[in-house]
Amino acid sequence: MTKSELLFDQARKVIPGGVNSPVRAFRAVGGTPIFFERAEGAYLFDADDKRYVDYVQSWGPMVLGHAHPDVIDAVVEAAEQGLSFGAPTESETLLAEELCRVWPNMDLVRFVNSGTEATMSAIRLARGFTGRDKIVKFEGCYHGHSDSLLVKAGSGALTMGVPSSPGVPAALADHTITLTYNDADAVRQCFAEIGNEIACIIVEPVAGNMNCVPPVPGFLETLREVCDESGALLIIDEVMTGFRISLTGAQGHYGVRADLTTLGKVIGGGMPVGAFGGRRDVMEYIAPLGPVYQAGTLSGNPVAMAAGLTTLELVQEPDFYELLNEKTEALVDGILAAAKEAGIPMTANRVGSMFGFFFTDAESVTNYQQVMACDTERFNTFFHGMLEEGVYLAPASYEAGFMSVAHSKDDIDYTISAARRVFDRLKAS
Ligand code: PMP
Repeated sequence: MTKSELLFDQARKVIPGGVNSPVRAFRAVGGTPIFFERAEGAYLFDADDKRYVDYVQSWGPMVLGHAHPDVIDAVVEAAEQGLSFGAPTESETLLAEELCRVWPNMDLVRFVNSGTEATMSAIRLARGFTGRDKIVKFEGCYHGHSDSLLVKAGSGALTMGVPSSPGVPAALADHTITLTYNDADAVRQCFAEIGNEIACIIVEPVAGNMNCVPPVPGFLETLREVCDESGALLIIDEVMTGFRISLTGAQGHYGVRADLTTLGKVIGGGMPVGAFGGRRDVMEYIAPLGPVYQAGTLSGNPVAMAAGLTTLELVQEPDFYELLNEKTEALVDGILAAAKEAGIPMTANRVGSMFGFFFTDAESVTNYQQVMACDTERFNTFFHGMLEEGVYLAPASYEAGFMSVAHSKDDIDYTISAARRVFDRLKAS
């Protein structure tokens, strides 16, 4: 038995499913989740001290690689001053100043402790500000697990919500309209019918929770347009894309402006941090300035702020994103070429340092239906083959992959050669 198997057995006795977030349980790919003990740069080390080249990067935040010495130093220094005060600290202001300076259209920003809190609070604010209840989201986009957002799509241009999780009241889910990602016509039709009842659209500007699906040209622009026409707010959820696909996230990359932006992951450098911010008039609607309530005992935690500040400093070093993107391009091109050599039908999407591979004959993948039509069994075999080779990919075919600047050319070359070996085995099976 591996140590991970032993630890998983132990965990299952006291934690539902042995994990504190479902995808960690390896349900999609089968097998036992790997329990990690430490991480450094591009690598994770499991409980048996096996090393893995990591392309999950804690689901995105570790853009510098794991345990960057400057970030660790900042965290230790902050921790020595006390772990939490539940009162204002200067580091909150410094991180907020940095976000408002760098980010497009961020006049004011509020810190929370997770992406879920950021999107949940932004939605409440949008509803409070507009005085409207309905929200629009897209099939295959994930914005955390708050009630209004845990609504699954049906089909059709205007699908009224049904709860996708028991426990979400139908009355609440009814206010969530789920449309097809990248279908601008469906958005226009929905807004033509009930635009004046809609508080906001929330969108992943590059969908990273149905593998990796970039927006088709014009899609994000349409969202901006219908919001301007109807008075709804556009919430661009950059929890994953922020400080990841570029310094200014998807909004910088695609040139589309949000009314409210949600952030997480990179801005905490691996500590639990989220944020929502944007237009001054909207943000002034939040307590204590305005009537919409939102709060948090640990929000703006000084240790987390220190990790975030140092991380944001380091990503602004010259050519940081160019380097990160080049590494990602080399990986994606190399794996695609290896698949082609082996005669395995595969396509890939990449935006900046986010990427996804699809086992499919289709030339491109642009929406949830296409993602669902991919060969998940083949992915699962690929996943386990790579795991054996010491490469850690997200344990589900519906997740994006992430690069860090700590990945060396050797790490990337090794990953491609591992993929070549796994493809050969796949071909033979
Ligand atoms: N929004 C997006 C786009 C995300 O990818 C995630 C999580 N991966 C969330 C929100 C929720 O963030 P958290 O898991 O920190 O609550």
